[in-house]
Amino acid sequence: MKILVINAGSSSIKYQLLNMDTETLMAAGIVERIGDIQGVLSHKKYTDGDEQKTVIERRIDDHKQGMHLLIEMITSSETGVISSTGEIDAIGHRVVQGGESFSRASLIDAPIKAAIEKNNPLAPLHNPANLTGIEVAQQLFGDTPNVAVFDTEFHQTMEPKAYLYALPYEFYQELKIRRYGFHGTSHKYVAKNVAAEMGKNPEEVNVITVHLGNGGSITAVSKGRCVDTSMGMTPLAGIMMGSRCGDIDPAIIGYIVQEKSLSYQEVDAILNKESGLKGICGMNDMRDIHESAAQGNQRAKLAVDMFTYRVKKYIGAYFAALGRVDAVAFTAGIGENDDIVRAAVCEDMSGLGMQIDPEANHGRISTRKKISAESSSVQIWVIPTNEELQIAQDTMAIVKDM
Ligand code: ADP
Repeated sequence: MKILVINAGSSSIKYQLLNMDTETLMAAGIVERIGDIQGVLSHKKYTDGDEQKTVIERRIDDHKQGMHLLIEMITSSETGVISSTGEIDAIGHRVVQGGESFSRASLIDAPIKAAIEKNNPLAPLHNPANLTGIEVAQQLFGDTPNVAVFDTEFHQTMEPKAYLYALPYEFYQELKIRRYGFHGTSHKYVAKNVAAEMGKNPEEVNVITVHLGNGGSITAVSKGRCVDTSMGMTPLAGIMMGSRCGDIDPAIIGYIVQEKSLSYQEVDAILNKESGLKGICGMNDMRDIHESAAQGNQRAKLAVDMFTYRVKKYIGAYFAALGRVDAVAFTAGIGENDDIVRAAVCEDMSGLGMQIDPEANHGRISTRKKISAESSSVQIWVIPTNEELQIAQDTMAIVKDM
């Protein structure tokens, strides 16, 4: 079975074509700067371990043209891996916000599209773009089934005590203000696969999944089900991130509005784009920050200290939420590549049963690897995430019996 995974943004379309019989990547790419004077498509074709890259620069008017271009790339004799789109069995779409309407992936039809649209106000930057991707795919791929896989669905198992904010209850009833959580496909993939690496079923273990990329979130997973997660109604909450502030005292916002004579929109942009690591040391890429800290930049060092301290506190909180923890699993750009951050997060955690093995932790890790010491009662793992594969698996589960 061949599945095309689509992640449509406001001016981009990321795609991957996967052969699900072998769970291998056939082609992947991104169409960017849709609507700009000059658009760009970067495409990779994978054959027998070989990678062939093609870049095309030309104006791409809209998502429809972008999707046409990617179809050309995957079907052409030069860059393609299939001879026609008829070989694609299904298309899996990443949709950011499923609200309370979706606790599982869904075959897309008109009522499902309407339900996604209804959640637009909760993710105004993402859901409309995801819907455009769905519309265009429906126009161009004929009868091929389309499936929506939601970032939020894995977190729908949280109980009200975990997802409600201590605000007037009507705000939840009227406006659906609550914790939704994000990165759900990644947390689901990592929780499932760390259990597999431990030789267990997901239902047998409690794990804390630590997704540290540009955005980051931490999730407490009990027996395969999410019980709590650090992101909130929006992806601004939780740990400190590349340029997002994470949890702050909500009263700070009004204070900045007043003292700096800024509008709420301006403050919101600062919290999302000028805060986090960037706010503290001016850089948001952890590699640059380490380099600068090594050269004596105290702000860079402070940024790393703040970042790792916050991750550590969430892990501690989730030990309390779960009662018993079998494994902590790191993933995503920083989680997989950054031994300094992993070591700092796990430092002095032996009281909770976590002891890292410095040698196993050393360096970038690109495969699944246990990095805890033998004496550690809680296993510590690096599990490289694969959100596209998870979306393809969820899509396949829906269409395989059709
Ligand atoms: P996104 O949230 O955009 O998907 P990623 O999961 O790709 O992010 O993670 C991006 C982050 O990973 C970068 O900001 C960078 O700080 C970090 N990163 C990537 N490679 C390394 C590395 N070798 N060492 C430390 N950090 C790294």
